[in-house]
Amino acid sequence: MPELPEVEATRRLALPFVQGQRIATIMVRESRLRVPVSPLLAKQRDLLVTDLLRRGKYLLLQTTKGSILIHLGMSGRLSVLQPPIPPPQRHDHVDVLLANGHVLRYCDPRRFGLMLWWEDHASHHPLLASLGPDPFDAACCPDYLAARAAGRHVALQPWLMDGRNISGIGNIYAAEALFRARLHPNLPAGAVMPADWAGLLGMLQVVLAEAIEQCGTTLRDFRTPMGSAGGYGAALRVYGRAAQPCLNCGTPIQRLVLRQRSSFFCPSCQGVCPGGSGGLPDLRLADAPGV
Ligand SMILES: [Zn+2]
Repeated sequence: MPELPEVEATRRLALPFVQGQRIATIMVRESRLRVPVSPLLAKQRDLLVTDLLRRGKYLLLQTTKGSILIHLGMSGRLSVLQPPIPPPQRHDHVDVLLANGHVLRYCDPRRFGLMLWWEDHASHHPLLASLGPDPFDAACCPDYLAARAAGRHVALQPWLMDGRNISGIGNIYAAEALFRARLHPNLPAGAVMPADWAGLLGMLQVVLAEAIEQCGTTLRDFRTPMGSAGGYGAALRVYGRAAQPCLNCGTPIQRLVLRQRSSFFCPSCQGVCPGGSGGLPDLRLADAPGV
């Protein structure tokens, strides 16, 4: 699933092609996405694009008349196409035709994404109202994280992936940041020490920034607007590496399922989990080495 780095890479690469350009028409071939495509979207004509922004995992195509809110869902991608425009394939659901002949094409095989017209600045859309701060925002500081997590028994990895706490984090980058911060994914969020929040936030920012530089990770469907795969897959230290040796200590990486999502961690480097919620019995304190 595209997370913050994949969406941010999409934004950065597509921005120069759309900013200051006019949208001539919008062609909707399939409106049955996770949220149906707004009927008003296909009626828009002659829109001047002023910006392409990101909020969490949402892309916000801002125009002088309103905005187009885009989410890539599980398998979506946006392509920038230059003439001659190739014919649409089966999962190419929406084309945004620019007056200069370029096309911004939305493809989404699993149709969990969305594309909505909103007659206001995109940042005012109700879908964004409950989103927590971006990990790079000044508001996302260790004190905020500690206060937000206080008293919460939910495991740390799903807590990080809840967009109401922090926006844009999915299981790939949550697992990678927890590994680098040496925190167990099943540690209750409310049990994280104040100093560990600072370390974790720092590692989240490092991992996300590195991944943005590499245009994200392609597990299956993700492609940049230019059609290439993300390059961060080779840099992943724990995600997808179950049973392979930890790059720090050689202990086999373990896979754990937390709230139906995979986590990957090193049981040596990431310590023990004091009574985490829903963990496997072999992760409990009594079974941990040295306890
Ligand atoms: Zn290790």
